[in-house]
Amino acid sequence: MFLFIPLICGTKEFNSAYDNKPEHVGLYCPHCHNNSVSPMKNKEFFTFYFIPLVPVHWGKQLRCSICNWRQDFTSDAELENMTAYQKVQ
Ligand SMILES: [Zn+2]
Repeated sequence: MFLFIPLICGTKEFNSAYDNKPEHVGLYCPHCHNNSVSPMKNKEFFTFYFIPLVPVHWGKQLRCSICNWRQDFTSDAELENMTAYQKVQ
């Protein structure tokens, strides 16, 4: 006897605040031109029946809360460069 059981797979994201420094909040978004970008810790997992199993992305991102624009960054120095560049503009 053959039973058809749907396999429910997908991905799920887990985000948390990167830090609470005020200079990292409200950065300029190059996509929607609002000051709504903030750094996030981002983890994305492959899920099977809604259970997170395998991490597919693990890193830090700048994310816009309005248009959902994202950009990865790897180090604190890179983040400092971005915030310093934004203050010049
Ligand atoms: Zn935006």
